[in-house]
Amino acid sequence: MSKIIQLDEHLSNMIAAGEVVERVSSVVKELVENSLDAKSTDITIELTDSGIREIKVTDNGIGMDKTDIKLCYLRHATSKIKNQYDLFRISTLGFRGEALPSIASVSDMTIKSNNGETSNYIHLRASKLMDEGLISLNRGTEITVSNLFFNTPARLKYLKSENTELANVCEIVDKLAISNPSVRFKLVNNKKVLLQTYGNNDMKAIIGNIYGADSIKNMIEVDNEKNGIKIKCYLAQPIVNKSRKSAITLVINGRDVKNYSVINSVIDGYNTYIPVGKYPLAVVFVKMDPMLIDVNVHPTKKEVRLSSEDLLKSLITSTIKNALFKSRLIPELKMKEEKEVFPRSEIKVEEKTPTYIDKMEYIKQSFLEEEQIELEKRLPYLEYIGQYAGTYLLFQNDSGLYLMDQHAAAERVRYEKYIEALSNPTNISQPLMVTTIIDVTKKEKIFVDKNLEEFNKLGVVLEEAGPASYYLRSVPVWIIGDALSIVEEMIKFIVEIESIDLKQIRDELAKRISCKGAIKANKNLSIDEVNTLVKDLSKCKNPFTCPHGRPTIINFSQYEIEKMFLRVI
Ligand code: ZN
Ligand code: ZN
Repeated sequence: MSKIIQLDEHLSNMIAAGEVVERVSSVVKELVENSLDAKSTDITIELTDSGIREIKVTDNGIGMDKTDIKLCYLRHATSKIKNQYDLFRISTLGFRGEALPSIASVSDMTIKSNNGETSNYIHLRASKLMDEGLISLNRGTEITVSNLFFNTPARLKYLKSENTELANVCEIVDKLAISNPSVRFKLVNNKKVLLQTYGNNDMKAIIGNIYGADSIKNMIEVDNEKNGIKIKCYLAQPIVNKSRKSAITLVINGRDVKNYSVINSVIDGYNTYIPVGKYPLAVVFVKMDPMLIDVNVHPTKKEVRLSSEDLLKSLITSTIKNALFKSRLIPELKMKEEKEVFPRSEIKVEEKTPTYIDKMEYIKQSFLEEEQIELEKRLPYLEYIGQYAGTYLLFQNDSGLYLMDQHAAAERVRYEKYIEALSNPTNISQPLMVTTIIDVTKKEKIFVDKNLEEFNKLGVVLEEAGPASYYLRSVPVWIIGDALSIVEEMIKFIVEIESIDLKQIRDELAKRISCKGAIKANKNLSIDEVNTLVKDLSKCKNPFTCPHGRPTIINFSQYEIEKMFLRVI
């Protein structure tokens, strides 16, 4: 019997809003999802010229009979959705129906399929049947799409460079491979293999195949559950950060979904562990009631909406924070970088780094439950052996040589004090004995005048001294070091982002003022100062990076050092 049914007209219209096919990657995605729907366990994607010339997807799925093959290119046929209710309970891959006819209408398409009984093929050009017949084929389906958009020059022009299209395809196939670990995937462009997975459910191996063997070294695996939402995270070490946000994969109920707000909760979990403008490499699997997911937000199903999004977000952020909190994350320096498994690095596309405002969206997390662990054990025992270039502190122990960046370390210590103080703000302030004047710009003056009350609440008491200056009367008790320059920095920052809502600005403010007044580079430290610094750092929740994500300490293992001197081979 034929498995594809004609869809009720009303429902079709609900789905049909908008174009589904816009790039090579969207064609690949649709074809591969078709293969997955057909229960395939082995899927090969072969591209010619990044798919602009040809895309061929071969699978070993259940195949189609002659009627199904023909229905494929008719509009509103789908084997998935039968009524509206189903539309809101999609926990499988979602609705096809619309995609194949759309692709068929703008390309040359050949469909070959063997359903175990017969093998048929059809050839379509712009949805017109050119040829059909019987062929010989193994069980499964092979769909070839060539000359995409040949009859729609406007859209053809919209295709980007071969590199960009290929990068997008890689990303899509990567995510499909991650969300379907029991399926073998092979991606090939112009006969060059770009990805191969083995369908053996080995998630770390899959991530390693995609992002390189280094990325899974000391990878943290952690799961958690709350209010019926289950998550499982694969977290690369912070040092393995990437320049694209797409290094974060979110799989909800077996589907890779884009939900930037949830993806940001992953970034938030890594907050201050990763350099500014970089992203963690992480895969997060979520299992939740499909009724809480609205997949039908956009016809290309890129952005997915969730009902209990805040709950999921805080679960992800706190799980990641706790997991990182429990790991020792001192980067070990190596002589040589390991080679990529597949030649991916030449395929590059630009992604803009987030602006402060982008970041504001997710730095809203307030008091996350953190498990108590013994803080002192976060850093190993370190024996101080000297200072290099007035900037780096040298230590040794059984594991080799350590270099500590004294500014980064001091900044981390101060940051954690400030974030604590700003999390539990008191307006207890201490009056300044000497008259201190703060000069401000006109813009700053206007903003500060309007918000004097709010500054008071922070413990900063200002009194007008002139058209562009204030007397600084009192400063918060929690300020460490040069109060004047820290208050100046606070004012500058608060005016810059035009907000004094502490909940929103706490993290960024703490970063800014922790840099001000921290031990500088090019400063000789006494042994006492070094001891205090190391003691304070070892009490930090994250002693491994400065608040901007730069490492505070790195390790040269004895083995690596001996290798450099050719003492070992
Ligand atoms: Zn700094
Ligand atoms: Zn820093």
